[in-house]
Amino acid sequence: MEKLSGISVRYLKGVGPKRVISFNKIGICNIDDLFYYFPRRYEDRRVFVPIGKLAEGKVQTLKVTILAHNDRRSFRRRGFAIFEIMVGDSTGQLSCVWFNQPYLKNYLKVGQELILYGKVERYGGRLQMNSPEFEILSGEEDGSLDAGRITPVYTLPAAVGQRTFRKIMKQALDTYLSKVNDFLPFDLRSRNNLANLAKSILDMHFPEDFKAQEESYRRLVFEEFLLFQIPLLLRKLQRKNKEGIVHNTEGRLARDFISALNFELTESQKLVLEEIKKDMKSPQVMQRLLQGDVGSGKTVVAVIAGLFAIQSGYQVAFMVPTEILARQHYEKIGLQLSALNPSSLKGIKIGLLSGSLDKKEKEELCRKIKDGQINLVIGTHALLEESVGFKKLGLIVIDEQHKFGVGQRALLPQKAINPDVLIMTATPIPRTLAITLYGDLDVSVIGSLPPGRGMIKTLNFMQGDKEKAYEIVRAELSKGNQAYIVYPVIEESYALDIRGAKKMYQEFKAGEFKDFKIALIHGKLKNTEQDKIMRKFKNKEYDLLVSTTVLEVGIDIASATCMVIQHAERFGLSQLHQLRGRVGRGKLDSFCILISDPQTEESSARMEAMVKYNDGFHIAEQDLKIRGPGEFFGRRQHGLAELRLANPFTQLQILHHARQEAAKILEADPVLESSKFLPLKERLKNRFPEYEKLSVIG
Ligand code: ADP
Ligand code: MG
Repeated sequence: MEKLSGISVRYLKGVGPKRVISFNKIGICNIDDLFYYFPRRYEDRRVFVPIGKLAEGKVQTLKVTILAHNDRRSFRRRGFAIFEIMVGDSTGQLSCVWFNQPYLKNYLKVGQELILYGKVERYGGRLQMNSPEFEILSGEEDGSLDAGRITPVYTLPAAVGQRTFRKIMKQALDTYLSKVNDFLPFDLRSRNNLANLAKSILDMHFPEDFKAQEESYRRLVFEEFLLFQIPLLLRKLQRKNKEGIVHNTEGRLARDFISALNFELTESQKLVLEEIKKDMKSPQVMQRLLQGDVGSGKTVVAVIAGLFAIQSGYQVAFMVPTEILARQHYEKIGLQLSALNPSSLKGIKIGLLSGSLDKKEKEELCRKIKDGQINLVIGTHALLEESVGFKKLGLIVIDEQHKFGVGQRALLPQKAINPDVLIMTATPIPRTLAITLYGDLDVSVIGSLPPGRGMIKTLNFMQGDKEKAYEIVRAELSKGNQAYIVYPVIEESYALDIRGAKKMYQEFKAGEFKDFKIALIHGKLKNTEQDKIMRKFKNKEYDLLVSTTVLEVGIDIASATCMVIQHAERFGLSQLHQLRGRVGRGKLDSFCILISDPQTEESSARMEAMVKYNDGFHIAEQDLKIRGPGEFFGRRQHGLAELRLANPFTQLQILHHARQEAAKILEADPVLESSKFLPLKERLKNRFPEYEKLSVIG
């Protein structure tokens, strides 16, 4: 049978060479793409609302005639061009207004018939629509496509109108729908009450009624989730079949380290450690995501896992997103390890692969990593470079994974044979969601903070009240505590009306904070310079650090009790929470002070959420609500781009069922070779070109 993905849209009538290009630009190359290019919304054009019966404040569809137009300049705001037409039907009149679209007068002519779609409002006693969407009726429309029915409205390719696009879609459906073959087995469909594929495609584009559209939508969402889950589950299965390293988790080294710590591990840490232990001592490959709020103590857990590997004769690579963090981990881990007895300590050689090494130092270090003299390497993505090779890499720890792309995440394991991998994140997400996005990983959660932490009080000040914030900072500094003031940029911007760290540092030094020792840090400084400043701050040679977001992740200084975030509305919620996590790390109570000038509802919502919620799970939930999944995760990174219709947040139930079916399918036929699943396999290969690679590895 001919595959629809093999038939170019250029074979359709009305799609010439020019249109092919504009179709391709929005991802429509073949008939299959076209069928899956769903409407942005629908208009109910079965009955039009007469003007006399319009309901204010509601979005409605009407059919009218243009009675007059009137383009004029508004003098209330200079340079604002307003274009207005009066339209009417037998029951009344209505004004329609568009802003800064003067070219509309070339299209909209008196006497024309229009279909309008928009919200009706009343201004000074008359009805008006602001910037409604419209379609001009030429009398040539296809009564069965453009009116008299629930009409699809598409996001259009360049230089193609709604009506033309509908016509092309209809023609494609008429010609090729009969070739659509449902790749979901019949029993799966009937179990889950799913409509058949051809019907679903048809009803998504030209539904008879909204119920039919909803049913087809549900079927297609299910399908998307299923196609998304199969490769994830497959990866997980294959991992379980791989021969991994059996680490010795009961050795002296780790045990001595735990008893030498100057604190007791929390219950939560112990639990997670047990999960890691189980993975590491089994021959299966570990791929574990460790979630825990900022400051919950993930690092020490990772170090213990590292010691499991080292006491088993393997090397450990610990990858972090910034130079400062690499340096900090190197020092802190070194310090923690130094509590070990000398004979244990002898077995551990730490290296720091930092950008501040010169060429010779780096070569030297790489040599030592290569021949196994160093067995714990801490570094940035410099670890991924080709010149870095290991003798016997057994465990990879990736800290703050959200700062790395999935591609980067996958590179390090290639430097070893089936190593165990521990991925850590302080951007916690609900478990159900973690399953969708990281379905190939196992998930552990550190659910509580170590005891004895001070409180963090979050305050939100308007720009005009900055002085109050500085008052609090000065009070903290006078007590001998330390503070950060963070700016979104290094250099100020007049265009955006935001101040930068560099200039404000100068101003503070001579002004608000002239009685204190103050330093400036940002990403443009040399790594060695950044290291020096951080070290001096840590040694309390400075009271106040003015910085950019180089401080965002991981920095751990217990005597810093005050964090001021300038232009806070410019940061995302998770980023604000990360920044806030730089204080409250010791016993002392701390402040996080947002200075903001929120211009939108969304940014006010972020500020409110920060004041209201202190824990990362709540923050992540709010962030998801405010920004939506795509923005939250960065679409590309997580394959969420593959989900065009489905939304894992609101359609959890469907997701859950799809995941169950995916597991069932793989259990019955892991390579999808039976005739029952062959069409599904074809579909997977088509949607995920990497799918084949997956099955080959297995
Ligand atoms: P995370 O990486 O999860 O943000 P860290 O690992 O940096 O957190 O830990 C934050 C601080 O808490 C560190 O100074 C660490 O030494 C300390 N810490 C970790 N676990 C405990 C514990 N169980 N009790 C007391 N302090 C702890
Ligand atoms: Mg950390």
